[in-house]
Amino acid sequence: MAIRGELLIGGESVIGAGRPFFAVEQTTGTTLGSAFHSATGEQVERALASSWEAFRSYRETTLHDRAVFLERIATNILDLGNELVDRASAETGLPKGRIEGERARTVGQLRLFAAEIREGRFQELRFDPADPERKPSAKPDLKLRNVPLGPVSVFGSSNFPLAFSVAGGDTASALAAGCPVIVKAHSAHPGTSELVGRAIQKAVAESAFAPGVFSLLFDAGFEVGQALVADGRIRAVGFTGSRRGGLALLDIANRRRQPIPVYAEMSSINPVIIFPSAIASRGPEIAKDFISSLTLGAGQFCTNPGLVLTVEGPGVAEFTSAAASHLTRAAAQTMLTAGICDAFKRGTAKMESKTSVEVVGRGIAGTPLEGQAVLFSTTGSALLGDPELQEEIFGAASLVVKCADQGELARVLDSLEGQLTVALLMDDADAAIAQALIPRLELLAGRLLVNGFATGVEVSPAMVHGGPFPATSDGRSTSVGTMAIYRFLRPVCYQDFPPAITPAAFRGNE
Ligand code: NAP
Repeated sequence: MAIRGELLIGGESVIGAGRPFFAVEQTTGTTLGSAFHSATGEQVERALASSWEAFRSYRETTLHDRAVFLERIATNILDLGNELVDRASAETGLPKGRIEGERARTVGQLRLFAAEIREGRFQELRFDPADPERKPSAKPDLKLRNVPLGPVSVFGSSNFPLAFSVAGGDTASALAAGCPVIVKAHSAHPGTSELVGRAIQKAVAESAFAPGVFSLLFDAGFEVGQALVADGRIRAVGFTGSRRGGLALLDIANRRRQPIPVYAEMSSINPVIIFPSAIASRGPEIAKDFISSLTLGAGQFCTNPGLVLTVEGPGVAEFTSAAASHLTRAAAQTMLTAGICDAFKRGTAKMESKTSVEVVGRGIAGTPLEGQAVLFSTTGSALLGDPELQEEIFGAASLVVKCADQGELARVLDSLEGQLTVALLMDDADAAIAQALIPRLELLAGRLLVNGFATGVEVSPAMVHGGPFPATSDGRSTSVGTMAIYRFLRPVCYQDFPPAITPAAFRGNE
């Protein structure tokens, strides 16, 4: 399938009439193919109008037809074959093997949502029958179901060009809920976005749905994305990226005449707590796994372990020196964009400039587009005194914190911002201390895991990929797993509805 740099507006493919920009081959920094162009205001309006128009019929599609639609998207993505893998790898600098794995996850995610829709539980159908004899007043007949919110604007992420982008978790869950989607493509992988967008556009046509069920727009700046979020026809937003970008969109959404939910996943340093018995008995072994997790994908994971919490005692020095030693063998890796690489270098330089922080190890140095992994250390009291030490450095950088005692560890945990994950590295002998921390960890993060690292998020009905602010803008939700569908639904109650006008969803389900 040719990459033509075209916007997909409903069923149409058109060249954007706005500013041009180019895809970049990330490992060399050279331009890839011909230009992409921003959508103009008129093109954004056409996408919004066709999305709103499509909502009327798409929300009424049967669960079966919607499930088949998601399965067609999955098939069409696979049919893109190596062209998709090659392009995504070139635009992101991520190895082809990683892209293949991500494609499998994307396709699996679409199929999981298809199964979820068929099963239909997300509708939350509830029946509370009338009781005319109830005293002092008769009880009405009540039914409840979830309905889709309306058109959703999705901002694909730079670090998952497939699984969190055009046909990623946000799009799959919004389409599953019955919401049309307008994707604002990430400017770091426009060719990949176009290919996947065409796979969705084809599935819309194969399903004979209204063409406005899906649109894909490019933007050389922020105007298109901001215009989408400001428009009254958009009813929710899915976003993964920087805190600054997420907050900018949240601000626009909150200033609208009708504010809307923005589900923004933004920033998390994913604390790892290594408990005393575990660090004393197997510190060097934990260090090896920690460095593997830290350097995976150049550290460009939202679940990257950016903070390691220990309590001074046996094994802490051995853990730190083993981690530093493993790090010396970590190759520098190409980062997703020049901007992300610059931000990583600025973040590590700022950390290094702190008098309370020591550099304990570095990976192998690389080219200007590559990130060199780095490990810092500090004390619990320094972390408590300097909130900048808990700022996310997106990439392979982490800070080992040595707390004076368990009391200081608890104070450090209480001082942290909201997180996606907390990992507990523990032995049986650590159970009592670990258990005492659980209530405060539940306040801190969306996922707590034992004896593992958080990179590698299982797509499952029981997964939570979310957490209190600033990990996400709404800690009641998840962007991974089937529960993600609830972000794009709203309950409606039907009181005393006669059968003639009762929605079909209730029939046969009492
Ligand atoms: P980003 O700059 O926030 O961009 C994400 C998306 O939002 C892009 O489509 C971007 O447009 C758009 N955008 C950004 N700011 C905007 C604004 N003010 N108004 C309207 N749209 C806006 O994120 P990124 O490019 O993926 O990476 C930059 C930084 O984000 C990283 O260094 C890292 O700190 C963080 N990050 C975090 C995670 C995580 O999961 N926690 C994941 C990825 C990145 P363009 O395409 O035009 O840039």
